[in-house]
Amino acid sequence: MLNFIYDALPAHVVFGVGSLERLGEEIMRLGASRALVLSTPEQRSSAADIAARLGEKAAGIFDRAVMHVPIEIAQQAREEAKRLGADCCVSIGGGSTTGLAKAIALVSDLPILAIPTTYAGSEMTPIWGLTESGIKKTGRDFRVLPKAVIYDPVLTVSIPPQLSAASGMNAVAHCVEALYAKDANPIISLVAEEGIRAFAQSLPLVVKKQNDLEARSLALYGAWLGGIALGAVGMALHHKLCHTLGGSFNLPHAETHTVVLPHATAYNASAVPEAMARVARAIGSDSAAAGLYDLAQASGAPVSLAAIGMKREDLDRAAEIATQNPYYNPRPVTREGLRTLLENAFEGHRPR
Ligand code: NAD
Repeated sequence: MLNFIYDALPAHVVFGVGSLERLGEEIMRLGASRALVLSTPEQRSSAADIAARLGEKAAGIFDRAVMHVPIEIAQQAREEAKRLGADCCVSIGGGSTTGLAKAIALVSDLPILAIPTTYAGSEMTPIWGLTESGIKKTGRDFRVLPKAVIYDPVLTVSIPPQLSAASGMNAVAHCVEALYAKDANPIISLVAEEGIRAFAQSLPLVVKKQNDLEARSLALYGAWLGGIALGAVGMALHHKLCHTLGGSFNLPHAETHTVVLPHATAYNASAVPEAMARVARAIGSDSAAAGLYDLAQASGAPVSLAAIGMKREDLDRAAEIATQNPYYNPRPVTREGLRTLLENAFEGHRPR
């Protein structure tokens, strides 16, 4: 029986090959005239390109975004925005750069125009994260939800194949968990299933052929849908476990999602058969968990925790930490259950 609450988040999305050409119009639409352009050090040249396109509407560039938004970097960026009299932030990059824009917006209300270049999906969510003394805090605040998003698949051509694969599986993870979220609803489930389908069709092609703009468009469309799903409903075991592994054992974000997803899915399978049927259908597989594993492998993504730097001797502690604070999951989370899940993920076994 249908029974749900649904909140739609406001979004203005410009999507398509060449959509970056509309940057000027989008800045005008925001009524901004002094944009602070944000990037990682590695994407400085992309930030410079954005600043050049903005011309006199660019107030400056801050190119020190790093993974998980350390508070020190957030403070520097906030001060730079103030010093320059910025009236908006334009972020070009992945979740780390969007996250930095959010850290600024959280204390200043500056509007964000996000230009995503990975599949992380942060641009569609009101979720912020800040890391202080090694501990990452997250929260929800509508001030950090970007006011405009430009998705241009051309900007994803430069993603190295391994990052494409891992980032894509990160987005698939948002979709999978949305299907069995505590506050799941029929609209977001449609979005989530379509997101998985988009990646199942595009990811193996994206990593094989750099200039396949059709496949890259489909993957970026999937990323948009994954972001909507993540922003709209709560996540469960998979995201909590990845948060623990990333935070406590310093594992890379997207790759951790890639490796854990088939095993978290297998763990929950018996509790949510309908969601599993939708995942399997979207991938075109008999089994959701094995299908996700096969998709990761076909895309060249890592499939074992051992391959991404986890140490066997840390598995017990990981299971311990991940069961310390209770959270929603469709199947009860036990220490023994998690320990087995982690063992399988460590070895990279294909779920049965
Ligand atoms: P990232 O933003 O850290 O990018 C990884 C690296 O790839 C960086 O060096 C970046 O400069 C580079 N890169 C990005 N796009 C590129 C491109 N097109 N070509 C070449 N290089 C490129 O990685 P990510 O996985 O996108 O983001 C991870 C972070 O985002 C984590 O901190 C995660 O917690 C956060 N996140 C937040 C949300 C949210 O809703 N708040 C959602 C998803 C992820």
